Amino acid sequence: MRFWPIPLVCWTLLLGACSAIRQSPDASAHRTWSHRQGGIVRGAWQQHIDCACQRLSPAIPDLVIKPYVLDADDLSAYSWPDGEVFVTRALIDAASPDELAAVIAHEAGHLIAHRRRSDATAMLRGRQSHLNPEIQADALGSVILADCNIPTTAMLHVLLKVQQATAPNNPSYALLCQRIKTIQQKQKMEF
Ligand SMILES: [Zn+2]
Repeated sequence: MRFWPIPLVCWTLLLGACSAIRQSPDASAHRTWSHRQGGIVRGAWQQHIDCACQRLSPAIPDLVIKPYVLDADDLSAYSWPDGEVFVTRALIDAASPDELAAVIAHEAGHLIAHRRRSDATAMLRGRQSHLNPEIQADALGSVILADCNIPTTAMLHVLLKVQQATAPNNPSYALLCQRIKTIQQKQKMEF
C-alpha cells in the first residue's frame, strides 16, 4: 500500500505490501499519517483495544504496544516498529473480544518478527524470511493467543470477516485468501 510518500513502513492486517523497515516515523509523522487515515477516536473503542492488549500481555511481557483507534470505516489494523498499533473503529465494531485480541496478536507478531530480524544472531539462526510477513504474523499471533488461552480460531474468524468486507479485485485479496487457507490447513492438521 502506498499511502505514505516517504519511505516509512508499517504493517497492516489486511494488506500484503509489507516491506523492509527503513525507519520509525517521528511523532509528527505519526500524527499526519493517522490524520490521513481518519484521525484518532477514543471512548469505548479505546477501552476495547486496551482490554485486548491486557489479555495478551502475559504472553508478550516485554513488548510495548501502544494502541490507538482510527476513525475509519474499513476493517484494518496497522502497526509501526515503535509499537504503536492502530485499529479502525469499524474493525473494533465488527470483531468479538477474542477476534480483537487476534488482531492485536497479529500486529504483535509483526513487531516480534521485526525484533528478530533486528537481532543479527537471530537472523543467522532464524532464516524465516522465506515466509510471507503476513502469514508469519498470523502464525506468531496464533502462538500468542494460545499462550493466553484465547481460541486460535479467532484469527481465522476475524480474517474471514475482513475477507467478506474486501472486494475480490482488491490487490490484497489473493494474499488474504492464501492466509485463510494456510490457517485452515494448520487447524485441520491439529485435529
Ligand atoms: Zn499484517
